[in-house]
Amino acid sequence: MLDELKDYLKKLEYINSTIALLDWDVMVNMPEKAEKYRSEMLGYLSGEYYKMTTSEKLKQLIEHFKANDDLDEITKSSIDKIEKEYNKTKKIPEEQYKHYKIAASLSYSAWEEAKKKSDFSIFAPHLEKMVEYNKKFAKYWGFEQNSYNALLDIYEPSITTEKLDVVFGELRLAIVDLLKKINASNVSVDTEYFKKYCPKEAQQKFGKLVLDKMGYDYKKSGRIDESTHPFTTNFGNKDVRITTNYDENDLRKALYSTIHEGGHAIYEQNIPDDLQGTMLAEGASMAIHESQSRFYENLIGKSKEFWTYFYPIAQNEFNNFQGVSFDDFYRGLNEVKPSLIRIDADELTYSLHIIIRYEIEKMLFNDDLEVKDIPYIWNKKYEEYLGVKPKNDSEGVLQDMHWSDGSFGYFPSYALGNLYGAQFLNKMKKDILDLDEQIEEGNLKVVHEWLKNNIHKHVKRQITPN
Ligand SMILES: [Zn+2]
Repeated sequence: MLDELKDYLKKLEYINSTIALLDWDVMVNMPEKAEKYRSEMLGYLSGEYYKMTTSEKLKQLIEHFKANDDLDEITKSSIDKIEKEYNKTKKIPEEQYKHYKIAASLSYSAWEEAKKKSDFSIFAPHLEKMVEYNKKFAKYWGFEQNSYNALLDIYEPSITTEKLDVVFGELRLAIVDLLKKINASNVSVDTEYFKKYCPKEAQQKFGKLVLDKMGYDYKKSGRIDESTHPFTTNFGNKDVRITTNYDENDLRKALYSTIHEGGHAIYEQNIPDDLQGTMLAEGASMAIHESQSRFYENLIGKSKEFWTYFYPIAQNEFNNFQGVSFDDFYRGLNEVKPSLIRIDADELTYSLHIIIRYEIEKMLFNDDLEVKDIPYIWNKKYEEYLGVKPKNDSEGVLQDMHWSDGSFGYFPSYALGNLYGAQFLNKMKKDILDLDEQIEEGNLKVVHEWLKNNIHKHVKRQITPN
């Protein structure tokens, strides 16, 4: 019967991987007119997945193994994980689940068009549907009072608005306070050299060099493509793909999105082989996943040590840095300047972008805000917290894809990831006494090994307290 269970879980992962592969294709390759047929394909596969995760057969398997005490730890965790998913999915009526998946796919396309035309009204009816579906799901799961908690729990188990209000409340006050001081200072930083024309090919070459050093195997177990919104996806640990987005007039954009996605990708590649096909082969939580990408992007990728090694190479590869001293470059790279776009934000103000989205999501799901009023609230909060105001929807409320496919509750993961990452660096420095020197010499292997042993091998296992 154990073989039967393993076989069943593997089939579930195959469907999951197929859906992920089709989703990747939607964002990277798919011709425009293929949209309708693709959403039908995805709808069908999601329906099959739904059937398999709610079947009588699976219920019997779960019950059988739940009663069995001498299971190995992996199988036991698999059972706990699939039981949680069974309970969650079983509560959503099949037709609704299928319609939701189709609506999500259409909503993503509508968001793309709306962003291109900078017109929120194209996206609004789709967004309304996504919010309504998720409110309903939260009710099915038993979250009558605060449906937003149900969504937060998907990405960061057991986190709640009660906890986040405290953490984000403190964080917001601290950042806004520091930002005021920075804005009032008369120190200015030159960053013009980043904005000189820089051909895509040169950016690609340098990006690959950094990814190599980070230990991301894009040659045999991954690949790098382009998409509007950079992301990482994987089908097992031997096919982990990232995307990026090049701006030939600002090389920082692709560089830091590449490093960010590289941080996610090495996590997925380091998930142990024996966990593949067990439903456990994924990050411990989304915030832990984001801690890996944000850690590399900011704490390593903007550090003096990292650039001690990479700056001479960058000076050779790009025309941008002729005559720019290391100190000026380093200061420019770490400039604090409130901006409109989250993924381009500096390390300090980044979390404010997240807190704004968190507050808006919370209002939406507590019925304190209607979809049509989001752009107004968005712009108001940007002005209040960051002192900047979007000129249009494209650089405002439409900049992120997350809401288009219903990923509400995901955003807080980034800011939590920042907080986790800082703590990991602290511990890493205690464990590796010459960490700074190693990074200065370009030996990022020590970082890779530490992350692999302390973070990456710990996946999404259910921990049963005893
Ligand atoms: Zn990320």
